[in-house]
Amino acid sequence: MTIALIAHDSKKELMVQFCIAYCGILSKYNICATGTTGKLVSEATGLNIQRYLSGSQGGDQQVCARISCDEIDVLLFFRDPINPKASEPNDMDLLRLCDVHNVPVATNIATAEALILALERGDLDWREIGHPHI
Ligand code: PGA
Repeated sequence: MTIALIAHDSKKELMVQFCIAYCGILSKYNICATGTTGKLVSEATGLNIQRYLSGSQGGDQQVCARISCDEIDVLLFFRDPINPKASEPNDMDLLRLCDVHNVPVATNIATAEALILALERGDLDWREIGHPHI
């Protein structure tokens, strides 16, 4: 199972705090992230994170490519809903691909927490074997 992390600049500290809080669960999975998000989270938690390019350099598109290849099982994407920067990842591309590939995605910490706890319970194990209802 692979979890992808992306946080807009105004949400990076929130992502770091979230990953510190759930480090024990996250450490059981493969984690990848856009460049700066991955750097901050790995420095704060010691988690081993596969880092892509920074979002402004196309890191979000690298995550999109992995979603397209069904290689991402959960996306935690903390976006700035008020003042996103022009260079920050385009949420519609990411969210559309998650819908195409049926990837559970959280865009805020409340949903992220629900997803992480579901992951720990095994509720998302169907990602590895195929969904029984699809
Ligand atoms: P970053 O990419 O993690 O490299 O900053 C995401 C963003 O640009 O918001």
